[in-house]
Amino acid sequence: MKYSMAPASKHLGELLGMEVIQAKDVIGEDAKKKAAALKEGQILMLENARFHKEEEKNDPAFAKELADMAEIYVNDAFGTAHRAHATTAGIADYLPAVSGFLIQKEIDVMGKALSNPERPFVAILGGAKVSDKIEVIKNLIDKVDALIIGGGMAYTFLKAKGYSIGTSICEDEKLDLAKELMAKAEEKGIKLLLPLGNVIAKEFSNDAESKSIASDQIPDGWMGLDIDENTVKAYTEVIRSAKTIVWNGPMGVFEMPKFAKGTKLIAKAVAESGAISIIGGGDSAAAVEQLGFADKITHISTGGGASLEFLEGKVLPGIACLMNKDRKRVVAGN
Ligand code: AMP
Repeated sequence: MKYSMAPASKHLGELLGMEVIQAKDVIGEDAKKKAAALKEGQILMLENARFHKEEEKNDPAFAKELADMAEIYVNDAFGTAHRAHATTAGIADYLPAVSGFLIQKEIDVMGKALSNPERPFVAILGGAKVSDKIEVIKNLIDKVDALIIGGGMAYTFLKAKGYSIGTSICEDEKLDLAKELMAKAEEKGIKLLLPLGNVIAKEFSNDAESKSIASDQIPDGWMGLDIDENTVKAYTEVIRSAKTIVWNGPMGVFEMPKFAKGTKLIAKAVAESGAISIIGGGDSAAAVEQLGFADKITHISTGGGASLEFLEGKVLPGIACLMNKDRKRVVAGN
């Protein structure tokens, strides 16, 4: 059955060198019977909760039925902690709820960076769109010493500065916001770094003709697909001076080898910085892993969406429902 947990049970059993019992469903008679028959040290894998629409609806009756089979709820799925589903939040209404070691590490490392970072604190944001990162920028601009911007989102900022950006990706409806953010950074004395130069191409293709050019010289009909070497140099200097770094989003279209260099060099700079380094999931994490720098990074978040929401300063429902050592519910964020 597609999306069944059975292969996960089998693999977990192999890793642990013991049998992992598999239930036919996540609730119902079979699961209940197998849960009740569990002896100490045995493991029961319930079937995929999303086979029931009640899971994503955070249905209380469904959550209670799950809870009735157990004594304690341990959540270690940071990647889904930004969702209020029955297995990530609802169940905590019926059982003592605690975090596993992974969620603990995610909150400890990211929470400290946001609330009490070693300075200078540098955030590096990239990726396609400004609109996906607005809340992160707004939250971080009050906390960082420098904000480095790369990737497609940089072109909205460059256009807001009055530069021609050719056919580069741009969100025109965000130009005012980009101006506001740049003004705010200046007012607060925060360095907001934009690409000094770019690798531009005539088409969105790895085979396209390409060249490096300063940000105020992008010709009509060309698009920026990566940061250039001068930009990497400038960004690397700031990264080297940092004591805490948070990075989310690639510096260019790194899926195409021709435009992956900026992202790779920034990954290298972060890895070699010696700073406390935190990488949001997704593309930047993939870049660091591919390059073999993962072990030089303090923390690579296991949740793309969840880490973004954490950086936005939002309360994640899958964490807010957990208890701290005083058996009180914790609240994530800053
Ligand atoms: P995100 O999911 O927002 O982190 O964005 C990641 C995507 O942004 C990747 O698929 C990149 O190819 C894309 N991207 C990065 N830089 C650019 C750029 N200059 N133009 C277009 N897309 C870009």
